[in-house]
Amino acid sequence: MKIAIAGAGAMGCRFGYMLSEAGNEVTLIDQWEDHVKIIKKDGLSVNVDGKETKVGLPVYLPSELENQQLDIDLVILFTKALQLANMLQAIQPILNKSTNVLCLLNGIGHEETVERYVPRENIFIGNTMWTAGIEGPGKVKLFGSGNVELQNLLPEGKETALEIVHLLSEAGLNAKYSDHVLHSIYRKACVNGTLNGLCTILDGNIATIGNTSVAEHMIRTIVDEFADVAEKEGVTLDREAVISQIKATFDPNGIGKHYPSMYQDLILNNRLTEIDYINGAIVRKGKKYGIDTPYCAFLTELVHCKEEMLGAK
Ligand code: NAD
Repeated sequence: MKIAIAGAGAMGCRFGYMLSEAGNEVTLIDQWEDHVKIIKKDGLSVNVDGKETKVGLPVYLPSELENQQLDIDLVILFTKALQLANMLQAIQPILNKSTNVLCLLNGIGHEETVERYVPRENIFIGNTMWTAGIEGPGKVKLFGSGNVELQNLLPEGKETALEIVHLLSEAGLNAKYSDHVLHSIYRKACVNGTLNGLCTILDGNIATIGNTSVAEHMIRTIVDEFADVAEKEGVTLDREAVISQIKATFDPNGIGKHYPSMYQDLILNNRLTEIDYINGAIVRKGKKYGIDTPYCAFLTELVHCKEEMLGAK
């Protein structure tokens, strides 16, 4: 299958590398000039659980797409949430009536953005527990394992969704079809909606914040706000199960020492965050449904305040 990875950062390189190793024709698209230049010249350097390897993959800047006849069957979107609309605009030259588009970004409500650029029958949404990190231009680090859950936006897309699941699984990406992917998306958003913002604002790792006496109350309140909004969208979250899942991350001998991606984006790399698509999305949807979401609103404002203080871009 001909696959384009729209956003060849950490996750895009993971999916691109694994799908290419499984025999697919993978093309990377990214706007980061140094990254694109190095991959064009030397290939993509991949560190897989400590083992170094290199793979040659075609890669394009968005400005180079205009005259390409790529005949892409599937685009996998992997920008940060706030970059999604620009990416969808940039890839218009390679989309045709039958190009399917899979969105696996963290956060809530991305299908509303994708729908503005892609026919609904070609849209597939999901989420992933895989991780990855960029070590520098042309260099990605892959560690651990993960999975993917996905679903078609329109009911008639189920057969294609199953084909995409098969394609990803053949590449070792451990994919599963979900009849109710919104449920998984909300569940993951609860984890991100508590740990990401709190660790970023309080400047601590998961264990230091999770093990304070007030953490559980803050987390419960935020999860309640997510669950109240989710309920209005036909998603019933098991609040206790979600809270247990979050509490399981506090173990300092497990992932407790980890600083969530939002912390890495803003505090370490001075980048704007995805807060508007996690807690901010709950605030917007809460307003629409008449649900109060004061903790999500406050956390969203605090993160924006910190972004401005640090001059994040
Ligand atoms: P990233 O910043 O490493 O990669 C995004 C890439 O998209 C960048 O290389 C950027 O240059 C490119 N890009 C953005 N806009 C573009 C445009 N208009 N044209 C061309 N290129 C453009 O981000 P990531 O860590 O790979 O995360 C992607 C998504 O996956 C996010 O929603 C994130 O929350 C989610 N996610 C990340 C991880 C992880 O471990 N990194 C795990 C699960 C989910």
